[in-house]
Parts: sequence; C-alpha cells; structure tokens
Amino acid sequence: MARVFSGIQPSGEIHIGNWLGMIRSAVKLQEENDALYCIVDQHAITGHYDIGTLSQRTRDMAIGLLAAGIDPSRATLFVQSHVPHHTTLAWLLTTITPLGELERMTQFKDKSQRFESIPAGLLSYPVLMAADILLYRAEQVPVGEDQVQHLELAREITRKWNATFAPDEPFFPEPQPILSTARRIIGLDGQAKMSKSLGNTIGVTESPEEIWQKLRPAMTDPARVTRHDPGTPEICNIYHLHKHFSPPDTVELVAHNCRTASWGCIDCKKVLAGNMAATLAPIRERYAELSARPGYVDEVLGDGAADARRRADETMREVTERMGFLPGV
Ligand code: ATP
Ligand code: MG
Repeated sequence: MARVFSGIQPSGEIHIGNWLGMIRSAVKLQEENDALYCIVDQHAITGHYDIGTLSQRTRDMAIGLLAAGIDPSRATLFVQSHVPHHTTLAWLLTTITPLGELERMTQFKDKSQRFESIPAGLLSYPVLMAADILLYRAEQVPVGEDQVQHLELAREITRKWNATFAPDEPFFPEPQPILSTARRIIGLDGQAKMSKSLGNTIGVTESPEEIWQKLRPAMTDPARVTRHDPGTPEICNIYHLHKHFSPPDTVELVAHNCRTASWGCIDCKKVLAGNMAATLAPIRERYAELSARPGYVDEVLGDGAADARRRADETMREVTERMGFLPGV
C-alpha cells in the first residue's frame, strides 16, 4: 500500500485531458492505497481569476471528482485552503529551493507570458505543489505529463530537505509520477495541451449535443482540404482521441478511412462524438445527481479537511522540530 496524493485546480470544468491524464488513475489508485485528493484552490489564484465564482468552482470541482468516481469512503477528498499547513510548509521549502530551477520551469515560462507584471506566486507555484505532496509524505502522484517537470523539482527539494534536516534517515519519500497512457491530451485547436485556462477543452459533463458542437469545428489533419484528400491519422488529434474513446476495431477503421479518404473528417468526428458521449454519460448523470445534494458534498469536504489536517499536523510537528523551531505551547 502506497501513499498517493494528487491535486487539481478549480480553474474551470474538468476536461477529458484531466480525466484521462489524472482522474482515472486516481480513481483506480484509491482502491488499494492510502489516497488523498486535493482541490488546489490556492494554486488557482496564481493566475487572473474570478473572485466571485471561486468558491462555486471549488464546490463544482468536488462534485466533478465525486462524479468521476473518487470515493470518500476510500480516499480523502479536501480543499487545499482548508488545511493551512500547505502554505506554511511551502514557505519553509522556498528557503531551500533554487531560484534558477523555478525560473526554468516550462509552465512558468508559458504562463508568465500572460502577464505584464509577473506575480511571484506563479514562480513559486511548484514549491506549493511540492508542499502539497510532502505534507502527506506521498510516494505516488498521478499526473499528466505537464506536471512531470514540477515533480522532478519536488524530488530535488525532497532530497535537499532530507540531506539538511534528516541526514541519518530520509523523512520525506521521493514522490514518483504515475503517468497514464493518456499523459498529454491535445486541445481542440490541435496545437496546445488541452487546458482549462486555454478554452480548448471538452468537459466531462457536457451533453452529447455540446460535445458535437465542440468536435465539429475541431482541428484535423490540414492535408484533408476536401473530403477526397487522403490524410495521415497519426498527425490528427481526432484520431488520437478515438484511441481513448472508441473500441480498437473502430480505431483501425478510422485510420484506414482517413488514409484512403473513404470518409470525411465530419464522418470521423460523428463516430467519435457518439463514443465520447456514451463513455462520459455516467459521469454526467452522477454530476447532476450530486449537484442536487450540496449538503452531502460539503459534508464530504468537511470530513476530508479534518482528516487531512490531522495528518498534516503530524508531519508539521516533525518538520518544525527537525528545522529547529521553538515548539509552541
Ligand atoms: P490550467 O489550465 O488551469 O493549468 P489544467 O487543465 O492544466 O488547468 P490542472 O488543474 O493544472 O488542469 O491539472 C490537473 C491534472 O490534470 C494534472 O495532473 C495535469 O497534469 C493533468 N492534465 C491537465 N491537462 C492535461 C492534458 N491535456 N492531458 C493529460 N493530463 C492533463
Ligand atoms: Mg495545469
């Protein structure tokens, strides 16, 4: 049994990239491990954000995770800001994190371009992420590929902390990424990673009609100018999405019909839309059921926060002692 931790920002709706890349693994891992899943609202304020809807988005994210199969009887589901130790530990870790490492993070370079004046929180985002993980001494972290670099830094911070403050025996385990087969889902623009903050997503709770409306204009192989131009499935994002939502014989048929121009992109997308809607239907149904029970969701998050705080307290007692602080009374 391993200790598992993962986080997701309430920066928008859960999309198929989040689901395929992280949430599905998280659901599987809760079966046989000690799992904690966190809605990282303090990470979500490192960009431009809407104050008025943050709390609702946080609750909606909890509903989405429950609908996708996170089970509060197996895993601890909680909100980051309900456990103040995350930011306390993050501060302690900033003191041993090399600035140069933070500056070379790909996500920082990408996201900082959206700002005229770059907030320091965006730079120290990976330190808070390291704190999220270390606070529960987690060993496994289900994530998408975009988080692998942050996890490498978290491991480096872990090694440095252990070497300085627990030289005899490491206190924190080095967290390992758990990558799914869908580690990097590309957005509907066919260019960038599918991201909540980029508006190139399909949400896991969208209706069959909404899914179709989004897939219809989605980018395909540009060589397929007319229906009669053959294409190369491997460079088409629609083909790759088929691999996650359609049965293997359909995937083969998609590749064949694309290469031979036996059908047009719209035909191909219609099949994908149908399979995607069918795959996601149970999540959408559970989401609607749970949305009608806000009391239940708040109760889950309350219990989760209490459990997480208890565990975080234990870690922080050790950390403050090993770092030489005067114990409080
Ligand atoms: P934002 O644009 O606000 O950063 P996001 O869509 O990247 O949002 P996060 O909350 O940052 O979502 O990430 C949640 C989890 O989903 C992380 O483990 C991340 O690696 C994973 N993930 C995000 N996008 C994808 C994707 N396109 N493919 C696979 N996994 C993804
Ligand atoms: Mg992200």
